[in-house]
Amino acid sequence: MKKPRVAFFDFASCEGCQLQIADLEEEILDLINIVDVVSFREVMKEHSDDYDIAIIEGSIMRPIDEGRLKEIRENAKILVALGACATIGGINKIRNQWTPSEVKKEVYGNYNLKGNDFFDVFQTKAVDEVVKVDYNIHGCPINRDEFKKVITSIAMGKNPEIPNYPVCVECKKNENICLFELGKFCLGPITRAGCNSICPTNGSPCDGCRGILKKPEVECINDILERYNLDYEEMKRRCNIYNYGKEVCK
Ligand code: SF4
Ligand code: SF4
Ligand code: SF4
Repeated sequence: MKKPRVAFFDFASCEGCQLQIADLEEEILDLINIVDVVSFREVMKEHSDDYDIAIIEGSIMRPIDEGRLKEIRENAKILVALGACATIGGINKIRNQWTPSEVKKEVYGNYNLKGNDFFDVFQTKAVDEVVKVDYNIHGCPINRDEFKKVITSIAMGKNPEIPNYPVCVECKKNENICLFELGKFCLGPITRAGCNSICPTNGSPCDGCRGILKKPEVECINDILERYNLDYEEMKRRCNIYNYGKEVCK
């Protein structure tokens, strides 16, 4: 069977998710057994525009990004969004609370940016706000093992399983003391699991990097807010780190 050809592309990001994959080291050989990597700027010089699976890291910030992404989508049979910047807009969406003009003024002052496509930014978009995404690999950064599982499933023509239950489920399995009991504000109840509750297990509240669940348990969240005397606005502010502008529940 012919191996699917895989190409990586980066948009606005810190490239930390691609670095996670580059860091697979010898495990990358397992991956090369099932796919042909034809483009991966962080680890190889070669590049080909003939690919089956496009893996997109980063958020979409400018019309030139949008055009490039649409072209990639046309060339690819399958498109995968890699990491929070791509799947939900991630940290780059924080700036959507200001207009693009305000952001440019703050960063570049009175410097004349007119006519330069590089600085022609609009409000940050996740990849699926521009093109159809077939699969998401969540997290900031992504989890290497999850990446391997998802790519293996896709290469075998199977549907990768992406959890759609809260981080709290993993946290309970890990027998952690709930951080609300320790006076911290954790987004685990509304955030998609899959990271094995790495942050709460290590004493840090979840910031929601894997995205808000499609249907968060509104009653459960209201219970928590009431029980610990916390307000909805505080939860919204915390959600803004990764999920800016997302209404969680009312
Ligand atoms: S999701 Fe996080 S680690 Fe990945 S590219 Fe974006 S900022 Fe970097
Ligand atoms: S610490 Fe966070 S993830 Fe863990 S049970 Fe409490 S709310 Fe849920
Ligand atoms: S616990 Fe929350 S913030 Fe930490 S990795 Fe998991 S989803 Fe991301």
